[in-house]
Amino acid sequence: MKIMIFDQGHPVTEQLLTKAIEVFGTPESGTCEIVLARCIGKAHETAADQLQKTVAEERPDVLLMGATALGEEIAPAMGIRLGTGVAAHCVDMELRYDGEVVFLIPAFGGRVIGEIMIPDVQPGRPAIATVKPDIFSADAALVSEINENNRLRVIDLEPAGEHRGFQLTGRQPRPRAAVDIGKAELILCGGAGLGSPETWQRLENLAKALGGAAGCTRPVVDAGWGPDESSMIGTSGRSVRPKVYIGFGISGAAHHLCGIKDADVIISINKDKKADIFNASDHKGVFNAEDVLSALEEEIGL
Ligand SMILES: Cc1cc2nc3c(=O)[nH]c(=O)nc-3n(C[C@H](O)[C@H](O)[C@H](O)COP(=O)(O)OP(=O)(O)OC[C@H]3O[C@@H](n4cnc5c(N)ncnc54)[C@H](O)[C@@H]3O)c2cc1C
Repeated sequence: MKIMIFDQGHPVTEQLLTKAIEVFGTPESGTCEIVLARCIGKAHETAADQLQKTVAEERPDVLLMGATALGEEIAPAMGIRLGTGVAAHCVDMELRYDGEVVFLIPAFGGRVIGEIMIPDVQPGRPAIATVKPDIFSADAALVSEINENNRLRVIDLEPAGEHRGFQLTGRQPRPRAAVDIGKAELILCGGAGLGSPETWQRLENLAKALGGAAGCTRPVVDAGWGPDESSMIGTSGRSVRPKVYIGFGISGAAHHLCGIKDADVIISINKDKKADIFNASDHKGVFNAEDVLSALEEEIGL
């Protein structure tokens, strides 16, 4: 089986490489060949054209890419151009005994994990999957050993033809949180159960006062309570690895849980004692989220 990884010069490449070796075997095991299609810098502008050409030449069975801004733009384009399926935002993958590749994706609002199998996969018509950064962990020792011993074939995608899409005319940096949720040791995460933008603001202030970061679920972003997607945790948001995660008013959909699976300690506050998030928590509190926020504010004198 031939696996191609679209390498955008992003750490997600090492995470995909580690996962590919875990699932399909090492390059010298004889069970698979792994090729990196490297696309860095200017080549981005015509990446889809170049990748399509490289897929036609290399004829991979599986094409993996990070669900970065570029990956999310290119993956559906490749699906249409190659006449194949794309498993977007997969959280795991398996190789079945009959050689079928299965991608696992949260479905039905995150209540179940669906198995996606792309039909009629063959060399040159690969199964395509995108994976958010940090969903998989990179094995740094394995990756450096593979690189040092040149055990991977790397194909550099060269810029080609005229750029036909959008052009970057300027950049406007968005305001950054004091503590980035990707690096925070403490995350207070707010869900729909916070109920209002005012309560979200209280949670954000409390996180700041405690030297942590505030994260949120999809409904909080969609409701426009304040945070944007850079604070959202889950399969379409960020994956985090804090020492302590405290969730307030969060149900525990798989889309969100995938983003917190590497937290050391998970504490959850929910007024529903049957909330799914309690199954994934180390400590649970069946309380009104606002009451717990008030108690913490009082404790630290906010
Ligand atoms: C393709 C796709 C990708 C997605 N990606 C993401 C993602 O990256 N991240 C993400 O978060 N979601 C994502 N979602 C949405 C996800 O499926 C869930 O809908 C979402 O995580 C639910 O957020 P929530 O727990 O805040 O809200 P809800 O599911 O509405 O849960 C609210 C919870 O708050 C509790 N509650 C209510 N009032 C109170 C109170 N006063 N005190 C305490 N508890 C209270 C309720 O009992 C309930 O359990 C995605 C969905 C799809 C389809």
